[in-house]
Amino acid sequence: MHKHKKSLGQNFLVDKNIVNKILNRVLPVTSDCFLEIGPGEGALTFPLIDRISKLIVIEKDQTLSHKLSEMFSKNNNITVINHDVLKIDLNKYVKNQIRVIGNLPYNIATEIIFVLLDCKMKIYDIHVMLQKEMVDRISAPPGSKQYGRISVMVQANYNVKKLFDVSPNVFEPKPKVWSSYMRLIPKKKVFINNTHRENFKKIVTLAFISRRKMLKTSLKGNISLDKISHIIGDEKVRPEQLSHNQFIEIAKYV
Ligand code: SAM
Repeated sequence: MHKHKKSLGQNFLVDKNIVNKILNRVLPVTSDCFLEIGPGEGALTFPLIDRISKLIVIEKDQTLSHKLSEMFSKNNNITVINHDVLKIDLNKYVKNQIRVIGNLPYNIATEIIFVLLDCKMKIYDIHVMLQKEMVDRISAPPGSKQYGRISVMVQANYNVKKLFDVSPNVFEPKPKVWSSYMRLIPKKKVFINNTHRENFKKIVTLAFISRRKMLKTSLKGNISLDKISHIIGDEKVRPEQLSHNQFIEIAKYV
């Protein structure tokens, strides 16, 4: 019996109904190539492997990744990588049109989402389980309490859909919080070029360092207010009131 490591966010899915519910939304087909982040004991890996053409799994826990390598030693369409998903060069493994799946370790879920923003061009779609509160933040509309930097960054790059909520009872050990299953589909041609993309990241980060401050105060020295007044309207506007599209427009004037 595996001793769960809290430090690695190990809450394993033990309810087959939820696994089926996930697969019914992901709808894997034979030609698919998947990347699974944090396979754990293989709750999603086992049902996926026989239905698709290629599966790459990245698991930080050495004991678990050894077990997975042994269990799948006869399958030649799986690559088990024992590594930290935040430290690996994903571009080396992520080829065009890969589908990403995972029941993410909640303690580093934000960092993982940001890593996935950077290889968006190669990703076909993403299906991940996250803490419910985080999915609510990612999908929050402008002006709402949960709306913040991660909402703007993700919504600019992906179409976001929360699929369903998941009770703590389907995991072992049970987490203290509810979870949600989310789908992200990359948006094409959001930025004019790399400079525009980098400026977008910079101004969104600056704007949300202090979400209650007026945008013009947070961006002072980085942008001229005259140039963006047609985008923001009221010059007293706060970052939490602007949509991701407005931030994309503002980034053109940095
Ligand atoms: N997919 C399995 C399931 O649904 O039962 C396990 C999910 S569990 C919430 C998260 C998994 O991510 C664990 O197996 C954990 O060891 C792994 N993990 C944690 N941090 C990681 C990291 N930085 N890189 C790769 N895997 C990680």
